[in-house]
Amino acid sequence: GDMIGIIGGGQLGRMLAMAAARLGFRTTILEPQPDCPAAQVSNSQILADYDDRAALTSLAARSAVVTYEFENVPVGAARHLCEHVPVFPPPLALETAQDRLAEKSFLNRQDISTARFLPVDDDADLRAALDKFGGSGVLKTRRLGYDGKGQRVFRNARRDASDGAVEAMGGVPLILEDLVAFDFEFSIIAARGLDGSMMAYDAARNEHADGILRRTTVPAGIDAQMEKTAREATFALMDALGYVGVIGVEFFALADGSVLANEFAPRVHNSGHWTEAVCVVSQFEQHIRAVAGLPLGLPGRHSDCVMENLIGDDIERIPDLLGEPGVVLNLYGKTETRPGRKMGHFTRLG
Ligand code: ATP
Ligand code: MG
Ligand code: MG
Repeated sequence: GDMIGIIGGGQLGRMLAMAAARLGFRTTILEPQPDCPAAQVSNSQILADYDDRAALTSLAARSAVVTYEFENVPVGAARHLCEHVPVFPPPLALETAQDRLAEKSFLNRQDISTARFLPVDDDADLRAALDKFGGSGVLKTRRLGYDGKGQRVFRNARRDASDGAVEAMGGVPLILEDLVAFDFEFSIIAARGLDGSMMAYDAARNEHADGILRRTTVPAGIDAQMEKTAREATFALMDALGYVGVIGVEFFALADGSVLANEFAPRVHNSGHWTEAVCVVSQFEQHIRAVAGLPLGLPGRHSDCVMENLIGDDIERIPDLLGEPGVVLNLYGKTETRPGRKMGHFTRLG
């Protein structure tokens, strides 16, 4: 069949559906929100929760392959789908990326360096972990954090700083990571095909504000050896996961030339949006190609560029941006503007 099922109807689902259409595929999204960004561009929608078994069975029945646009798809739902239809990226990738402890442990098992980390379940764990990391660290919820939510930074903390900290984070399982004094952050957007072939786009430099990705710059101005290390780590990770699709891996670049992996997203990634403006094949088309079992495209790009997110009131810049030559604009069709909400992005060429 020519139907691709997509779990999740946000902007990433929307851009995947648009890329799928260009390759001649139809798409069905599984998404409980009727007025979601992807609904405006996909062929059909199943209005149900992501773990609704009847809805999943119906999605499987009409799809040749099912993929997803966010990393918190319930693993049970993905495994259930797998009994009826190919699901890419594989549920193992979801399961690993959903828990920061499992994720960092998995990376280390592939000889991919990360910040040091320790699991934290109570204040005593936190005190011991802070002692071990010299009083500084980033405390994160193991699950469900995004855009820097569910995080607390400790800098040269006093010994009693841990008192009540676990409760204040919601009493959920946590992880303390070493506070990394990175030089800058970058990401590798890569893909692995059904036949095991792999490609990676050029490394992209990322700047965050208030925990949210603000700007991505290509080229990243990164040392060639560091980029090679990150690219090889990404390829090793994809091989170990039996991965199919596009992946986004975030890295810290340190002043001493070393590279630490921070986290990976088993999906198309915000820091890869620039590929739609300057690459022969965008990350969205690349993902559709991969999950549909088609050959991967080349990662080449024709221009240097800077991608910026339009967050909340940033949409007031749209008229000015449209008046600028060499700006590629992409709006997500969200009707309601809220502070911190990603409304669209643009890529400035050159
Ligand atoms: P995303 O929206 O990218 O999924 P997230 O909420 O999952 O974000 P992280 O990417 O782990 O969280 O952290 C958000 C940002 O916080 C990072 O991009 C980085 O700037 C900073 N940060 C995270 N971990 C560390 C660390 N161990 N040391 C120093 N800074 C860190
Ligand atoms: Mg994350
Ligand atoms: Mg991140």
